[in-house]
Amino acid sequence: MIIAVASGKGGTGKTTVAASLALSLAESGQAVACLDCDVEAPNAHIFLDPTFEHRETVNQLIPEVDPDLCDGCGECADVCQFHAIVALGGKTLVFPELCHGCGSCTLVCPQKAISEVPRPLGVLEGGPAAGGIGFARGVLNVGEPMAVPVIARLKKWHGLIDAGVVILDSPPGTSCPVVESLRGADFALLVTEPTPFGLHDLRLAVELVRILGIPAGVIINRDGIGDAGVDDFCRDAGVPILMRIPMDRRIAEALARGESLVAAFPEYLDRFRDLYDRIVKTYRQDAAS
Ligand code: SF4
Ligand code: SF4
Repeated sequence: MIIAVASGKGGTGKTTVAASLALSLAESGQAVACLDCDVEAPNAHIFLDPTFEHRETVNQLIPEVDPDLCDGCGECADVCQFHAIVALGGKTLVFPELCHGCGSCTLVCPQKAISEVPRPLGVLEGGPAAGGIGFARGVLNVGEPMAVPVIARLKKWHGLIDAGVVILDSPPGTSCPVVESLRGADFALLVTEPTPFGLHDLRLAVELVRILGIPAGVIINRDGIGDAGVDDFCRDAGVPILMRIPMDRRIAEALARGESLVAAFPEYLDRFRDLYDRIVKTYRQDAAS
């Protein structure tokens, strides 16, 4: 089962939940993999303490124009949906940061003036983590905007996706990298906090998973602050609240020390295993409906 842990915004405790769920299931003997898809700011390794045994660079093929063959016809620029290649005054220029590596310009060039060269986007790193969890993360190069290819490659890396339970720590938000993380997931666990900001972003996240056709449940983190808006929304939208983690200064202090929630408070091991049971139940109910 592939469970994507997501949230409409950063700082809701998404990684805390992903790591604690992985550790709790691993502790009970379940084969678990955890992939940190938050490639712009990966931090699940802090709680899972992996040993990185494998490393791989993720490249994207981008066009390179041979000026001796190019006649400036502009057909490459016409076909590019991303304005990543332009033909101006007899010169053809490529903007690598805008290129999505689709290869269309290479295909249409009548002069065969374009070849494709690799451009490094980031790296994948993986290996065994605490409790025997199979762990991997993507790390996007600084300033690199193309997160999607790194996430897509991470999800196929080293057969981790074949573990009994795969937990994906998604990037925050609802943009393309989040969509790529959620793609193919069996269940989306949406972490939020009970505030107007949390509610706003939860609405967007629920809308996204519905468009993608992924069953979802909510975890309310820092329960006790804010108001009842998230509860009301979940009730009206028919999204189950699967777990609540109270606002507790001791939890915040443990996380700040780099301790996972279940390491600092072992009573949460059973709570996260119950959470998994509720996820499976909700998933089955959705499949049967
Ligand atoms: S399609 Fe080929 S020949 Fe025409 S401008 Fe582009 S690179 Fe040059
Ligand atoms: S590979 Fe695709 S995105 Fe990149 S410049 Fe060519 S047409 Fe544009």
